[in-house]
Amino acid sequence: MKIQTFSILTGSEACNARCPFCVSKMTPPHGIELKEPQVNWRNFRKACLFARQSGVTTAMLTGKGEPTLFPAQMTKYLQAMADLEFPFIELQTNGIHIYEKWEQYDEHLSEWYELGLTTVIISVVHFDAERNREIYLPHRERYIDLPCLLHRLHDKGFSVRLGCIALNGYIDSGGKLEEMIRFAREHRVEQLTIRPVNAPQDTRDADVFNWTKEHFLTSYQFESLKNYLRLNGTELMRLVHDAIVYDVRGQNVCLTNCLTLDPDGKDIRQLIFFPDGHLRYDWQYEGAILL
Ligand code: SF4
Repeated sequence: MKIQTFSILTGSEACNARCPFCVSKMTPPHGIELKEPQVNWRNFRKACLFARQSGVTTAMLTGKGEPTLFPAQMTKYLQAMADLEFPFIELQTNGIHIYEKWEQYDEHLSEWYELGLTTVIISVVHFDAERNREIYLPHRERYIDLPCLLHRLHDKGFSVRLGCIALNGYIDSGGKLEEMIRFAREHRVEQLTIRPVNAPQDTRDADVFNWTKEHFLTSYQFESLKNYLRLNGTELMRLVHDAIVYDVRGQNVCLTNCLTLDPDGKDIRQLIFFPDGHLRYDWQYEGAILL
């Protein structure tokens, strides 16, 4: 059995962005609320040990909301797993709080770097600031200065991955992907991941579900992304569930899908630790539980 990633849900459902496709509004809360949750540290330790004994090399701090809203808790998670020495520890964020409160996060990021954080993954939908604003901050006039944030994170020694959600009308063709890759190269982004937006089968928010369905990539659009990478990239490796990593003129690009379950049942894409102590391997099916 191969497990790709150990995802640790930090923080709560609270988020400072307003993405119309927000998956956390569509999936069950699994005990996560808006306030900072109490963490079952005993089970967190067991989950970490299981992940390490299963050969997991990457731990990812993420959340059903925005994890950086609770920086002290992030520090506690990193401290609690420090001795297990996961080679790669990643933080998934929309980057807004880090950019806007840099005076405060400068210090946190230095501490997290010392505790082993290797990679900061910033979620985007486009290379253009206005297109990102429409999705992440529709209630505000401006999106963050993403190039400035990338520069600051590099200066602190982090690797950066842009996690691009591919939406119909945004990054939905080979040409748009080429521009996204150009942006990533220009700002020395180490890794770029393209993942088509997806929605669970059952949802608890019809508006979010309907918006998301309207912005699914068509199969023609998805083929256009795949063809661009086949024609312009060199395949480097295949990850579980058909994710393929390419080199495109020196830029690392991974095209993946949104599946968390392997229909053949051979692999688990990710383990997911919930603060209440549960350990699951899928976001939407409550029965996909180990602990
Ligand atoms: S940044 Fe993530 S958690 Fe926040 S609204 Fe967007 S999808 Fe939801």
